[in-house]
Amino acid sequence: MVISVLVEIANKNVDKLFDYKVPSSLEDQIKIGLRVLVPFASRTLEGFVLKIKEKSEEDVSLKEVLAVLDQNVILNDELLDLGKWLAKKTLSSLISCYQVMLPKALKAKKGSQVSKKYEKVYVIHREVSCPLTEGQKEIVQCFEKKDALKRGELSSFSKARLDTLVKKGVLEEVLEEVYRLQYDTTQSYDLSLTEEQEKAVEEILQGSSSCYLLHGVTGSGKTEVYMELIAMALKAGKKSIMLVPEISLTPQMLKRFQARFGDRIAALHSSLSDGERYDEWRRIARGEVDVVIGARSAVFAPLKDLGFIILDEEHSDSYKQESIPRYDAREVALKRIQYYPKAKVVLGSATPTLESYARAKKHVFQLVELPHRVNGRRLPTVTLIDMNQEIKRSKGHFSSTLLEALKECFEREEQAILLLNRRGYSTVISCRNCGYVEKCPHCDITLTYHKSSKMLRCHYCGYGTPIPKVCPSCHEDSLQDLGVGTEKIEEELKTFFPQARVLRMDVDTMSRKGAHEKMINSFQKKEADILLGTQMVAKGLDFANVTLVGVINADTSLMIPDFRSSEVTFDLLSQVAGRSGRSEKEGRVYFQTYNKDHYAIRYAKENNYLKFYQEEMKIRKMMKYPPYYYLVLCTLASKNQEEALKETKRCEKVFQKYLDQTILLGPTPASIFKKQNIYRYQLILKYQYQDNLYEVLGKLVDYYASNYKVKLEIDFHPLHL
Ligand code: ADP
Ligand code: ZN
Repeated sequence: MVISVLVEIANKNVDKLFDYKVPSSLEDQIKIGLRVLVPFASRTLEGFVLKIKEKSEEDVSLKEVLAVLDQNVILNDELLDLGKWLAKKTLSSLISCYQVMLPKALKAKKGSQVSKKYEKVYVIHREVSCPLTEGQKEIVQCFEKKDALKRGELSSFSKARLDTLVKKGVLEEVLEEVYRLQYDTTQSYDLSLTEEQEKAVEEILQGSSSCYLLHGVTGSGKTEVYMELIAMALKAGKKSIMLVPEISLTPQMLKRFQARFGDRIAALHSSLSDGERYDEWRRIARGEVDVVIGARSAVFAPLKDLGFIILDEEHSDSYKQESIPRYDAREVALKRIQYYPKAKVVLGSATPTLESYARAKKHVFQLVELPHRVNGRRLPTVTLIDMNQEIKRSKGHFSSTLLEALKECFEREEQAILLLNRRGYSTVISCRNCGYVEKCPHCDITLTYHKSSKMLRCHYCGYGTPIPKVCPSCHEDSLQDLGVGTEKIEEELKTFFPQARVLRMDVDTMSRKGAHEKMINSFQKKEADILLGTQMVAKGLDFANVTLVGVINADTSLMIPDFRSSEVTFDLLSQVAGRSGRSEKEGRVYFQTYNKDHYAIRYAKENNYLKFYQEEMKIRKMMKYPPYYYLVLCTLASKNQEEALKETKRCEKVFQKYLDQTILLGPTPASIFKKQNIYRYQLILKYQYQDNLYEVLGKLVDYYASNYKVKLEIDFHPLHL
């Protein structure tokens, strides 16, 4: 027997199969999709068995397989095919595509082995008859209903007493594999769907499309719809995957799924240990799980008989992987369901991506809507606070209106959420007086401030202009770095409301394991009055007592130098507004802004997705951005700056010559131009149709795979440019 093995080196150069001879002692154990240990050059490597054959076409003496590492197949036929598709689609190595599907413990990679956990179990041999003492009979009686008992279940007996029975052959000690995680099965579930929810479920179950866009306002009860769909699929013997952004994978969310599906769920999230993740993966592969809930990579969960793959908050950028292989979970989901007859994908959001909504409009996806909150609850009223007017009356970063609203909220003993989305935007210059920010005349994106050259630059096309002395719009000497962060706001809150208990949630306070969960639980238990944070506080949270939401600066994400900044702003504001007034109590929302007439802010206030969509689509069309055009981001990286630039120009020439239907932007320095002494330049491709695109890019990727000085990275449909 000869097998073809894909070895663990993630290099495009060795991304081919190597043949090995199988010693007859191992022949029985070999299956396609298992891992084996093989000699490779002077090393020992792990690899996946991809082919079994009688003899090799290679005319060399073959080396022998050293060991078989798995008893059961870890990559089934569907996943093997999926990996090949993914490698082509993202132009990455096949091995990287298989590795991304597996928990760390199972990646073909040496030194990452996590072992199974075992527990001692006693099994009774009823056929053995021998005289027993009264005490021994007492032990045997425990086995009346069950043939095997865990050590823990016999804890009232000493080990010595059990040992005597083992010696007599009445009991046998065996090690049984156990899972590290346990799920709560004690909760019950009672909730009947509203008419609107029922209708949505029916439309999806009866529909003929394989992909549904569930557009439901915040608080419309999308989660219940998902669970109902999953339950219906289960009745037909089909299993489902429920994807959520990592940050929404809260205990609240898991509780709802446990109440409905008991311990037939597996939850894959970032705070699992490698061992726990390995256990969950095996439970799934063994068919012991009906529903897998997890973040992006759970889309690869080895469930068979898929019914639904559901992506909640489908607009979330967490569904795109930013490292190799740069896949989009949405596309993987659509690919996976093709393998299973009648399986469906459901994309749910209050603010779908323009790409998905446009597809729904063109009937590529079927649109299903939940236009109202459950049980007649109203969406909160949103008030815009014009900071241009307020600036004279405001204290610190708070308008008097927002301060007043906070005070009233505390008096009613209700809770508030405050959002300030500051990430590294301090390189954006804006006018403190009128809110003006300078944009690129060619790309319509915010210019980025480059300290060293005192220039404002466009990250897409390279356009540059010196930083103006006074604001070009209001002519005041009031241009500023947008640098305020959550810490500063927390300080200010302490001076205005010394009694208020504030929880601050941002990357700095979230770094410890379990911190997020703790904070959410504490806020839920009303141990704090204000939850203050970055975009983390905008997503998925469901607190009945929150009746006030305040956005300190609604403009921060408008300043991001990216063509999606309006969409991101609209999404964020709509999502955070949706946290208010989710139960009987009415909700209020305040957006502080310098750009009250900006359409993203105006339509978020009106909660009018459709209007926003129409307006934004006009701009996308005019500026040739997605969904009208596709994008590819090509980055060339090298320790040697000249070399990187030279190769970028070389790629530019290739593109100019061969990609005749494509618009080319750049070369420009990448948004993170120099990182760890690596210089990066980028080219952006925009196209509607380009039939030889994969061919041309594929050739370049192969070419640079063997270039040790310069690396080429290709990102299809990049989220950030
Ligand atoms: P969404 O995900 O659309 O924002 P959720 O699924 O979180 O909304 O539901 C919002 C709230 O409404 C939750 O507290 C949920 O328990 C409740 N809810 C959803 N459906 C129903 C229903 N049919 N009857 C009563 N309460 C419901
Ligand atoms: Zn530009």
